[in-house]
Amino acid sequence: MNRKVIIIGSGPAGLTAAIYAGRANLKPLVFEGNQPGGQLTITTDVENYPGFPEGILGPEMMDLFRKQAQRFGAETQLKNVTKIDFSEYPFKVWVNQDHFTSESIIISTGASAKMLGLESEKELMGYGVSACATCDGFFYKDKKVLVVGGGDSAMEEAIFLTKFASEVWIVHRRDELRASKIMRERTLNNQKIHVHWNTVIEEILGTKETGVTGVMLKDTKTGDIREDQCDGVFMAIGHTPNVSLFKGMLDMDEKGYISTKNGSTSTSIPGVFACGDVQDHVYRQAVTAAGSGCQAAIDAERFLEGISEIN
Ligand code: NAP
Repeated sequence: MNRKVIIIGSGPAGLTAAIYAGRANLKPLVFEGNQPGGQLTITTDVENYPGFPEGILGPEMMDLFRKQAQRFGAETQLKNVTKIDFSEYPFKVWVNQDHFTSESIIISTGASAKMLGLESEKELMGYGVSACATCDGFFYKDKKVLVVGGGDSAMEEAIFLTKFASEVWIVHRRDELRASKIMRERTLNNQKIHVHWNTVIEEILGTKETGVTGVMLKDTKTGDIREDQCDGVFMAIGHTPNVSLFKGMLDMDEKGYISTKNGSTSTSIPGVFACGDVQDHVYRQAVTAAGSGCQAAIDAERFLEGISEIN
């Protein structure tokens, strides 16, 4: 069946687009992807989303978004899009062997955590290496853990981990944190948190049997290498946009984020729109993602009106 709108991704951007497209009677189909609800489902308290003065749990908030979209007729499917073809109109979308067509596409595939790229990191992922403190922090009661990165995410992860760990060490490659003032202050004032300044991880030590037992740290100023014992390593060094489906099809910026035209969610292909973290490496907030999801649905609706006037 041909669709008016297919939405790929189900974080705040995708589900807000679904609410608006649903209310516009476009009966959107949302493919939720392999992390339904997006990155907020691996955070705990969301304290800065307007309308929740006491805060709300990330997964709970995304359930509410989904219910609201469904209330307006959005169909949500727990499936991963495997292939796209923008070269013909209506556009083609595949989920394995299943084939769909749509007059417009809204891309809201978000971004994923970056990793250091070490073999040992890959090997020990899930065995002491993690990119999600809220998912795995619980396993580090009274243990010593490291958090890599100097941005807001690293501060947030470090603070969260103090609920369980006895010691949390931030490993930062410079002598100045990138994080916002409030997060910097909260972190540096926390008695359980310490910082390895001008330091990077050269190697993560341990095996699948023992889990992480330590790291080799390198001083970025002197080049000196030292061993440090720890039980877990949490990566918080930023994100990369989830664009593998669209490589070579849409214009992207130098960091690989989908380019949108000034003041809109239009991509380089008419009828294809992008919203949320897949096109925003600056703000990356739930509320800005939701805002751009609303824009994408309105842009798609106007595009579809234009098409129907021509036909
Ligand atoms: P980020 O601001 O880009 O920070 C990434 C950090 O990782 C930087 O300190 C960077 O070092 C370091 N880094 C990057 N690649 C590295 C590598 N290969 N090896 C070692 N260190 C590396 O990313 P983020 O912290 O995920 O935050 C992204 C955006 O989300 C920001 O706008 C942030 O404000 C927002 N955010 C807000 C909140 C909040 O308000 N509560 C929470 C989380 C995120 P350098 O500093 O040297 O570049």
